[in-house]
Amino acid sequence: MAAESTQIAMTEFTNSNIEVMYTAEQIRERIAELGRELTADYAGKDLVLVGILKGSVIFLADLMRHIDLKIGIDFMAVSSYKDGTTSSGDVVILKDLTNSIRDKHVLIVEDIVDTGLTLTSLEKMLGSRGAASIKIATLLDKPEPRINKELKVHYTGFVIPNEFVVGYGLDSAGRYRNLPFIGIVKDKDAA
Ligand code: 5GP
Repeated sequence: MAAESTQIAMTEFTNSNIEVMYTAEQIRERIAELGRELTADYAGKDLVLVGILKGSVIFLADLMRHIDLKIGIDFMAVSSYKDGTTSSGDVVILKDLTNSIRDKHVLIVEDIVDTGLTLTSLEKMLGSRGAASIKIATLLDKPEPRINKELKVHYTGFVIPNEFVVGYGLDSAGRYRNLPFIGIVKDKDAA
């Protein structure tokens, strides 16, 4: 009983199997900077943020509150065929946009760019819909495994090493999306 009361309870957010890479505060500050940059860059333009489900939802929700402009939001869900650990680059639309992007300035909002194949496909698909411009914002950029080296990522929160990260929208088998920070799972087999 006494021992129990002096122990720090381990919860999902204080899980010792997760090593913090960026704290909630660091993320908040960086997103505020990105928001200021976007506010300046898109002033006077008809901007729509296109969030890629599900990983981008927290980033998009925070980012949009730092863009002091009249904006719209929409979402897409895609699935990429992966052969083991390598992605073929083929993307299938699971949920398409609700509204037309004709003549709009589109900012695709992603959680993380890895090989870049998902965004390459997405850019191609959206490219034929008559948007005024299409750019990419990602919270995290992992340049090392990039396959499409030509892919231009216009706005990046943090450039990270080649590690599998979770939290702040990013999952591991559906878990950890609700962590308020970004971290690395130390032991993937531990619960
Ligand atoms: P890409 O086509 O750039 O290889 O794939 C990007 C997608 O792969 C991301 O939207 C994300 O769903 C997933 N992904 C890539 N790296 C990571 C990572 O480190 N952690 C998590 N949770 N997902 C990742």
